[in-house]
Amino acid sequence: MPGWFRSRPSTRSRAIDPALWREATADWLFMRGLPEESNERLKALSERFLATKHFSGTHGLEVDARMQIEVAAQACILVLELGIDWYEGWSEVIVYPSQFAPEREVVDEAGVVHLTNDAMAGEAWLGGPVVLSYEDVALAGDEEMRVAGYNVVIHEFAHKLDMRHGDPNGFPPLHANMDPGLWKAAFASAYRDFCARVDAADRLTEARAQAALDALPIDPYAAESAGEFFAVASEGFFETPERLEPAYPAVYEQLRLFYQQDPLARLGSDPEFRAGENRV
Ligand SMILES: [Zn+2]
Repeated sequence: MPGWFRSRPSTRSRAIDPALWREATADWLFMRGLPEESNERLKALSERFLATKHFSGTHGLEVDARMQIEVAAQACILVLELGIDWYEGWSEVIVYPSQFAPEREVVDEAGVVHLTNDAMAGEAWLGGPVVLSYEDVALAGDEEMRVAGYNVVIHEFAHKLDMRHGDPNGFPPLHANMDPGLWKAAFASAYRDFCARVDAADRLTEARAQAALDALPIDPYAAESAGEFFAVASEGFFETPERLEPAYPAVYEQLRLFYQQDPLARLGSDPEFRAGENRV
């Protein structure tokens, strides 16, 4: 490795054992149909991620090599075609064993301050760390959650990309070949429609409401705000594009231009998907 120590920090990397890489990543939805060449690039990018980010566990949790690979690979699928520099400017990944409930002050619409301690699966700080519940990180490979496309790492790292423009608002810095007007139109119309569907479900009886929420193309949490809609739509884009694209094709198209990937097209070359086993 001639002169590796002279490299800029963003070109450093920490080798991942190929067998461990395969074992840790094989079952994830976003790996379906990923060409071998892209898989190799994802591994190389993850190696750079591991060299530039520092992991720490809370409550005595040891964030071992496999756990670090899992986080790195899920984070790096977002920037496979964009480059690791999209994650520059911060370095900490904090991992809790399970969901965490930080005490926060929030100000309501009337200006009244409340203390909250809602349980969280993950959190991304502007210019600061990404915080994750490992129990939730592991759910991405869980059979039941796979169907829902739940992926807390993709979610929080989508916020990180969004935060390159300041507070997350669902409008990350777009590429020169993209039209901000088309982005805004696609997301605003889908967000309106989605919120209306969630509101309609909330008015149903409990059993019927659950069925209506289960039928949504992405997690109802997306209705929280435009920023959350972008993060949850990014989970859907990589994990369950076969549900996102038919529901909101204009959003899928904007995400395809932004991430410079086409996960739905990749599914066509995935033998399991073609056999219908993963159809949801
Ligand atoms: Zn979020």
